[in-house]
Amino acid sequence: MSVSVAPRLPSIDSLLRHPACRPLSERFGREALLACLRQLLDELRPEVLSGQVAAIEIGPEALAGRAAERLTAQRRSHVRRVFNLTGTVLHTNLGRALLPEEAIEAVQVAARYPLNLEFDLASGKRGDRDDLIEGLIRELTGAEAVTVVNNNAAAVLLTLNSLGARKEGIISRGELIEIGGAFRIPDIMARAGVRLHEVGTTNRTHARDYEAALGPRSGLIMRVHASNYSIEGFTARVPTAELAELAHRHGLPLLEDLGSGSLLDLTRWGLPAEPTVRQALLDGADIVTFSGDKLLGGPQAGLIVGRKELIAKIKKNPLKRALRVDKLTLAALEAVLGLYRDPDRLAERLPSLRLLTRPQADILAQAERLQPALAQTLGPAWQVSAEPALGMIGSGSQPVARLPSAALCARPQVSKRLRGRCLLNLEAALRRLPVPVLGRLDDDALWLDLRQLDDEPAWLAQLGHLQVPE
Ligand SMILES: *Cc1c(COP(=O)(O)O)cnc(C)c1O
Repeated sequence: MSVSVAPRLPSIDSLLRHPACRPLSERFGREALLACLRQLLDELRPEVLSGQVAAIEIGPEALAGRAAERLTAQRRSHVRRVFNLTGTVLHTNLGRALLPEEAIEAVQVAARYPLNLEFDLASGKRGDRDDLIEGLIRELTGAEAVTVVNNNAAAVLLTLNSLGARKEGIISRGELIEIGGAFRIPDIMARAGVRLHEVGTTNRTHARDYEAALGPRSGLIMRVHASNYSIEGFTARVPTAELAELAHRHGLPLLEDLGSGSLLDLTRWGLPAEPTVRQALLDGADIVTFSGDKLLGGPQAGLIVGRKELIAKIKKNPLKRALRVDKLTLAALEAVLGLYRDPDRLAERLPSLRLLTRPQADILAQAERLQPALAQTLGPAWQVSAEPALGMIGSGSQPVARLPSAALCARPQVSKRLRGRCLLNLEAALRRLPVPVLGRLDDDALWLDLRQLDDEPAWLAQLGHLQVPE
């Protein structure tokens, strides 16, 4: 007959001295190890008291093993690379545009060394950070002047506040949009101190609607790119040139929020037409705002371009200081803009454009190449095929346009009742891979759109880790 003796937890001191723990102290630091061991012991104490734990589970080796696991997980960065196989190229939740090598190098230099962020090397005097990119943006857009802020939402807020505070901002009801989460034009206007004066209807707004709204309290006319929805059918909108003429006749500025905006005509690469910044300015918009990390393909930033005296007013607004960009952003932005000077090679050098213009045949060939590996990994419970698919640009660029693409399509071979659960399990298992893989569920299948898979070896190498529960 054996008498069971309740196991006891080792002391912290004895653990720290134990050979199994000493290497952990070297690797993670004594403080971190100590905190981790304390936490483990605290968690185990109730179980030990209630006799639920076997002695072996709380021996020094076992505890060291658990501490190592926990410390390793804690050390792993929370900012993690993923494979974006969702089919949406400029995915806001996945960081939008990928930077070209030129920009990455510029960021490294800016991160590592002091730089002339606000220092004019020619005169030896204090400079302005916007000057670092002003010349390039003027060249690429035809604008008189430029200022850069944290993102396009900030650009819109700052512009509205600088040019229209305490006055009315006139805008078509068809342009009172919401863009993901908290960015809604009426709210931004209110926060900017501009009184919203909406005109026209959702689908049709005419010049006479704007005209009727103009009065002594008017401060500006605003136009907003609808971005993430489209109005089709019985519609009417006043062309920018006509709206600008009307605004100027009444001494008001026309502000155009292009959202994505583009520096070049994208149709030359077979992409859907997006309004260009240059054209908006040529049409008479006095200020144009757009994002740095949407179609431009650069870092997160908001660009404000247009008439010199208006930009000067915007730069004087104290909010500018609160919304300005940092040196890493400016370094990346300058490098990306530099690539636009050579449009012929832009699609090779700018990752977002390269990905957006990848031919479908190329992606389909890749899907066919990878199909056997995924089929083998998933086993007979899944049917895996290479299929044509439709992707999206994303970030509110051309919401209805689809990019012909190709995907690996995985269908669970189970009864309809169980399919949903199987698909969620596979989705979750893919997210647990060392480099999480994100696809999309549609039509009772999981789709991995391969437009953005350019690191095939890394993707294949981790398939062996995939563990899908039955
Ligand atoms: C995306 C978008 C914004 C917001 O731009 P961020 O760079 O995401 O801040 C504002 N206006 C329009 C029309 C947009 O499409």
